[in-house]
Amino acid sequence: MHRTAIYPGTFDPITNGHLDIIKRAVKIFDTVIVAVANNVGKAPLFTIEQRVEMIKESVKGISQVEVDAFNGLIIEYCQQKGATALIRGLRAISDFEYEFQMALINRKIGKDVESVFLMPKEKYTYLSSSIIKEIAAFGGDVSCFVPDVVKRHLNDKYAETKEHA
Ligand code: ADP
Repeated sequence: MHRTAIYPGTFDPITNGHLDIIKRAVKIFDTVIVAVANNVGKAPLFTIEQRVEMIKESVKGISQVEVDAFNGLIIEYCQQKGATALIRGLRAISDFEYEFQMALINRKIGKDVESVFLMPKEKYTYLSSSIIKEIAAFGGDVSCFVPDVVKRHLNDKYAETKEHA
């Protein structure tokens, strides 16, 4: 049986922590679909197209990965794609409460989809998209935290903001 998992998130932008989780997930599942949430509520820095593009570029070498955008309920998206699992990354205790709540709600809505939690390498546990944006906004070097394509996009983005300041 072909096993498909969905890894949903805002990915604004993708970091080496997200990539670590993707690499672990493909060891367990045949196909992993990285599903980028439109998530207007979070007022993302990058457009959905840019976020999808950066992920596609970052996972080029991993054949089992697909990248897509989605709107609405993640469980409905899973059912649409025939996925049996939802991947989430757990960094620290601070992620636990929110993830626990989401997993239980998703279980209530979609009984056939299991949430699977993976832990990244220790060195990525303190990484988040928001901290990356903060460092980049102040001109800091993010090379060891994000793929090259993301670094380039961040540089462009903040150069743009400076020009308009
Ligand atoms: P969301 O808005 O859904 O939280 P994110 O893009 O912030 O979207 O995160 C998507 C998933 O990846 C979440 O499960 C989050 O806990 C996980 N994640 C984010 N950063 C890391 C990291 N550095 N290491 C492991 N998992 C991470």
